[in-house]
Amino acid sequence: MRALVTTAHGGLDVMQLQERPLPKPGPGQVRVRIRAAAFNHLDLWVRRGIPAGHWPVPIVPCADGAGTIDLVGPGVAALPHLTVGARVALYPVLSCGHCSQCRAASPQLCRQFGLLGEHVDGCAQEYRLMPADSVLPMPAGLSFTDAAAIPTTFITAWQMLKVRARVQPGESVVVHAAASGVGSAGVQIAAALGAHVIATVRRDRDVERAKALGADEVVRTDDPDWARHVRKLVPGGVHVVFEHIGAATWDGSVRALQRGGRLVTCGATAGHEVTINLRKIFFHSIELIGSTMGTRTDFEAVLTLAGRGLLKPVVGAVRPLAEATDAMGMLERREVFGKVVLTLD
Ligand SMILES: [Zn+2]
Repeated sequence: MRALVTTAHGGLDVMQLQERPLPKPGPGQVRVRIRAAAFNHLDLWVRRGIPAGHWPVPIVPCADGAGTIDLVGPGVAALPHLTVGARVALYPVLSCGHCSQCRAASPQLCRQFGLLGEHVDGCAQEYRLMPADSVLPMPAGLSFTDAAAIPTTFITAWQMLKVRARVQPGESVVVHAAASGVGSAGVQIAAALGAHVIATVRRDRDVERAKALGADEVVRTDDPDWARHVRKLVPGGVHVVFEHIGAATWDGSVRALQRGGRLVTCGATAGHEVTINLRKIFFHSIELIGSTMGTRTDFEAVLTLAGRGLLKPVVGAVRPLAEATDAMGMLERREVFGKVVLTLD
């Protein structure tokens, strides 16, 4: 079978297509014939080796993938989605399976948390063995390309908005960077939850994109007064801010909140050190909420909504595995709006 491999840390030239032996499923495992896999920016960080020494190589990239069950190992439950030929999406989190967090169905909080493509080989290969518990049935009508474009960003955004920040219908939510992967998922999920969505963007051309995703209003964060504009749109401030930018937006995000508001964050693409005015936090009863990835239940929820057409991943480019290195370059040079997906037919 063919596999895309990040052979060392470095530039695009470390990417290679390699021939590998076909793996055999062990007890409790299924073998998935991967049909589509999607890159995330994480794949670029892993390839570059930033931070230094953090990530193992060689590794097969792509946390996100979808395909068909190809072979079933011993001891796998006889469920319809675990039979040969079933169309499945892959839950990208691996965990120990027996600690208190795993038993509480929060594998993303397991001390042995691992992500496909980051700690172990990912989905940019023709076959991958998976624990049977980590494959979910794909809703009818969802394409492999769309199913592969969903997992990391939509699971993360669902856990942030629905589970951690507890967004209710009618609440107001600021979603940062609507043109980014997790931002575009956040806008759609906040809208699907019935919230009034204020998206932020940094470029003119992203204003219409944000509205097409379901934003009610759009604010430009290249304007230093952006938080004041939010408070003009929602007097008193918003219920929830969806953060993944960090230092560049943090002060405004706190200012945009109403009293009792919740700030939920999953990332810091523009700086991870910020200053916090504690008086604002306690006098205004602000909740600061961290969040990372999400659960299998979160994945089921977003797949169900995608199957009903209520969530739609933004796919910017689809390329065959043979052109994977070029495709990774497109992501790196930010040439495409939306996910870069590989097909493995
Ligand atoms: Zn565990």
